[in-house]
Amino acid sequence: MLKGKTAVVTGSTSGIGLGIARALAQSGANVMLNGFGDAQAIEALRVELERESSSEIGYHGADMQQPDEIAALVDAAARRWGSVDILVNNAGIQHVAPLEAFPEDRWDAVIAVNLSAAFHSTRRALPLMRERGWGRIINIASAHGLVASVHKAAYVAAKHGIVGLTKVTALETAQSGITCNAICPGWVLTPLVQKQIDALAAQEGLSPLQAKQRLLLEKQPSGEFTTPEEIGGLAVFLCSAAANQIRGASLSIDGGWTAQ
Ligand code: NAD
Repeated sequence: MLKGKTAVVTGSTSGIGLGIARALAQSGANVMLNGFGDAQAIEALRVELERESSSEIGYHGADMQQPDEIAALVDAAARRWGSVDILVNNAGIQHVAPLEAFPEDRWDAVIAVNLSAAFHSTRRALPLMRERGWGRIINIASAHGLVASVHKAAYVAAKHGIVGLTKVTALETAQSGITCNAICPGWVLTPLVQKQIDALAAQEGLSPLQAKQRLLLEKQPSGEFTTPEEIGGLAVFLCSAAANQIRGASLSIDGGWTAQ
């Protein structure tokens, strides 16, 4: 379905981004991976994705806090494959602390990676999509793009911001073949969430299993984690023709979290 398309997925060396990159590659898109990690492990991942699909997979190590590196990431994909058709703004970080104790540098970093990076990449990729008259911009927001939780000021502000950016991008591309939507996952068991489970276990003296169940059941009525594969499937659907008129939407995939 996506043969001949080029996708850039930020933060795709792990977790949700990797699930999306894998799903796009298996649907035929060439994919530029991005994210941090051990160089050998990333190369092994790149080769694995290439082997299990008929796509070409590249890697670019741009830091999503640096606008010039973000531009270089988009340009590198366009140089290699001729354009950027699918942009998935996924890279994200978390910091958990009460407002009064929230470190200023953590605020700046969370806003930079989780919000500003999507502005910089969209700005760079949009002219390429307009040239071809087709494009898909998928912003990975969160249930925290729609509702809040304590101690996550920067994350909740950034995720609400990206829901707003999604709507503006959708309106500015409304009369074209380019769509922009946000995906709002609930809890997904990735390294980002594992850190929060470990912190909860240490704070409350819980076993790892108890901490996992407490974290889930506090928010997610299904009692089950959303998976990177499920989010990958939703991203592929958003790239299909059936999704041509889904524009500016925030699609929850959260086990009922925001239905409450
Ligand atoms: P993760 O920690 O598994 O992966 C994050 C990815 O982003 C990694 O590849 C990492 O290397 C990359 N990254 C981090 N900082 C970067 C930077 N400065 N430059 C480039 N890459 C960088 O996390 P995840 O849980 O897969 O999260 C992915 C996205 O999904 C984030 O935007 C997160 O907010 C969102 N999300 C996660 C959950 C969840 O429960 N895990 C829920 C809702 C939304």
